[in-house]
Amino acid sequence: MQVKVKLLEELQCIDLKIDGRQAEKDLLLQQMNDLDREIEESRLSLDTLREELTALQGEKEESEKTMAVEADIIVRSETRLHDIKTQKEYQAVLKEVSTAKKVKTEMEEQIISKLGEAELLQGKVADGEKNLAALTGNIGVRKKEVQAQLNKLDAVIAGDQSQREATTAGLNAPLLNRYKMLREKRQGIAVVEARDGSCLGCNMQIPPQMYNNLYKGLELIVCPHCQRMLFIRAAETAA
Ligand SMILES: [Zn+2]
Repeated sequence: MQVKVKLLEELQCIDLKIDGRQAEKDLLLQQMNDLDREIEESRLSLDTLREELTALQGEKEESEKTMAVEADIIVRSETRLHDIKTQKEYQAVLKEVSTAKKVKTEMEEQIISKLGEAELLQGKVADGEKNLAALTGNIGVRKKEVQAQLNKLDAVIAGDQSQREATTAGLNAPLLNRYKMLREKRQGIAVVEARDGSCLGCNMQIPPQMYNNLYKGLELIVCPHCQRMLFIRAAETAA
């Protein structure tokens, strides 16, 4: 039984290494996500600018259409003025012309103002495109670096996994299950050394008879306080 516990302890060493590397890997994957999100955010803000620009150009076109309509009204009304007979009708057409001129002027002002805004936005879009291109390049380099680290880590983990398989081959399923459950309940430590009469997992004293049985190595000894599986080092066995 002592031999099996030793094997479990070896397995735990490997599993702790794998846990650590998995945590490292999770961090790298998080970095990858963060880098992707950085590009995505830059792309989204550029899209927003482009949409604003399109909307502005649409508004400008609307103003241009209205302006053309008003210009047409002005021309037609002014032509009509020559054929008008009554003073009343003349006044009415004059008013029409004056209103159309007012709207036309408003439209001209709006077009000028929207042209200015559009120019500003075009500048921002151009800057945004440049930034996105630079960022994509930069992040591409960083992602390659992170990917290289991930690949290295995967190879190491694969090595650990095959070492793990070789170790578990010597252990039966009930013992492995017990080990697995204990690891889940006890922060990854299922097998622990006993030294100077104490369990090093929970630092509690082990009853002397139980401790003596540990030396004999005939049965699996479990700490009565934390339920971890106990073993003693070779040096202690010899002493
Ligand atoms: Zn204990």
